Amino acid sequence: MTQEILKDQVAIVTGGTKGIGKGIVFSFIQHGATVYICGQNSEVGKEVAKEANELAKDIAKDGRAFFLQADVSNREEVDKIIQEALTNHKKIDILVNNAGITRDSLLLKMTDEDWDRVIEVNLKSCFHTCQAAMRPMLKARKGKIINISSVVGLIGNPGQANYAASKAGIIGFSKSLAREIASRNICVNCIAPGYIETNMTEAIPESIRNELTSKIPLGRMGKVEDIAACALFLASPSSDYITGQVLTCDGGLAM
Ligand code: NAP
Repeated sequence: MTQEILKDQVAIVTGGTKGIGKGIVFSFIQHGATVYICGQNSEVGKEVAKEANELAKDIAKDGRAFFLQADVSNREEVDKIIQEALTNHKKIDILVNNAGITRDSLLLKMTDEDWDRVIEVNLKSCFHTCQAAMRPMLKARKGKIINISSVVGLIGNPGQANYAASKAGIIGFSKSLAREIASRNICVNCIAPGYIETNMTEAIPESIRNELTSKIPLGRMGKVEDIAACALFLASPSSDYITGQVLTCDGGLAM
């Protein structure tokens, strides 16, 4: 039986409709949180919220899920969903910036559009969501912000200069914000996942997957549950004395 370590906590998870984000939503729900799931696709998002609510009901937990549609690169849309969560619950305890995309290409061939879109969705979105969600956290003198970076932001990857820049940017952003708001008891940390089995990685051809896996000391790709466990830790009181850190969860790839 899971403990309700996030009971009475209100969380927003961007990109919570698929992959890692969905895993985080389910874990938070199982631990008693109220979770606002943000994504662009309403149909998928409402279905995930329904699934999460059924899961909560099955295990008699207090957790509740709601879907809010927004493109996180759009400040007005972000402000609107944060305001909706605030109107309903008067507080935001946990923000997980997980929404992310790739637009891979070798740098010589990379277009301005591929560069800009990846930076806007992966990095500028954190600026928007943190700015909006930190106001109620500052007033409450309490909060947890978890930004999903990547091992690629630590070690780089050919064909992903735009993505690596966005993910390394998230680390610098998070460390700066952690220093700005630590005095108000708000913790800001990153998770740097390695290669995790999701939509984002399923397009990788099998031969390349095998080669990648051979470089992972623990000998396998990660599961969404591996990252969800890190997010749960960083959202929970167990990590109250941890801020400005990058929790790398990559099977040893970047050690
Ligand atoms: P995924 O399966 O492709 O899911 C991405 C999520 O982000 C979806 O819910 C998607 O919802 C949402 N999203 C994308 N653009 C958005 C936008 N503009 N506004 C709002 N939501 C948006 O990806 P994933 O593999 O779970 O990755 C999740 C995060 O982990 C990303 O930040 C990724 O960079 C990072 N990461 C992943 C891996 C990996 O191996 N999978 C490794 C390191 C880091 P819609 O479809 O509705 O837009």
